[in-house]
Amino acid sequence: MSVEQNVKQILRALPGGVKLVAVAKTRTPEQILEAVAAGIKVVGENYVKEAEQAQGIIGNRVTWHLIGHLQHNKVKKAVQLFDVIETVDSVDIAQEIDWQCGQFGKIMPVLIEVNSGREVQKSGVFPENVENLVKQSALFPNIRVAGLMTIGPLSENPEDSRPYFAATKKLFEELKSVKLPGVRMEYLSMGMSNSYQVAIEEGANVVRIGRKIFEG
Ligand SMILES: *Cc1c(COP(=O)(O)O)cnc(C)c1O
Repeated sequence: MSVEQNVKQILRALPGGVKLVAVAKTRTPEQILEAVAAGIKVVGENYVKEAEQAQGIIGNRVTWHLIGHLQHNKVKKAVQLFDVIETVDSVDIAQEIDWQCGQFGKIMPVLIEVNSGREVQKSGVFPENVENLVKQSALFPNIRVAGLMTIGPLSENPEDSRPYFAATKKLFEELKSVKLPGVRMEYLSMGMSNSYQVAIEEGANVVRIGRKIFEG
C-alpha cells in the first residue's frame, strides 16, 4: 500500500484522543510530504540533522517531536527545531534545554524518557528515578514537563511489551498528583509499528509509527 493509504488506515483506526507521530528517520522529505498530505500532523525525528533537512522542505505545517537521544552539543539546534522533546533523561540535559530556550525566548514541552525495561545499553531514566527527574526538570523556568515516553525492550511479539507499557502508565498516573507549576502530565508516548495497539490498550495517547507508514 502507499504511504497515503497507510496513514489513512492508521488514522481511521486510532481511538479519539490518541496522537499519531509519524517517525521519519531515514525517510526522504518527499516521503514525509506524502504522509503530511495524507493527514499527518506530527513528525518525529531521531536526528537533529535529518530534522533540519526535512524542515527546510516541510516547514511548520506540522509539529516536530524529537524522539531520539539528545546530545549536549545538539541542544542549541534542537530547541530551535523542535516543538516537543520526548527524550529528556537527565537533569543535565534538562538544564541545557532550559538555558538554550532562554536564549530563544521559548518554553519547551518535554517528556521524560523512561527506561521501563531497565536495559543497561538503553537511554532513559529508570522508573524509580522518574519522579525525581520530573520534579527537578519542573524547576527550570523554560521547561514544561508534559508527560512520559518509553520504548521498552524490543521484541517480535508486542505482548512482551505490555507489562512495560502498563508499568509506565501507572507511573504516569501517579505523577499526575505532582502539583508543581512546571508539570502537567498530558502525554504518554508509547508504542511503535508492531506494538502501538497494545500500547493504546495500556493507556498510550501518543504513538510513534515509522515502518507501518512508510513500508507497510
Ligand atoms: C524508529 C522509532 C520508532 C518507530 O519505529 P517503527 O518500528 O518504524 O514504527 C518509534 N520510536 C522511536 C524512539 C524510534 O526510534
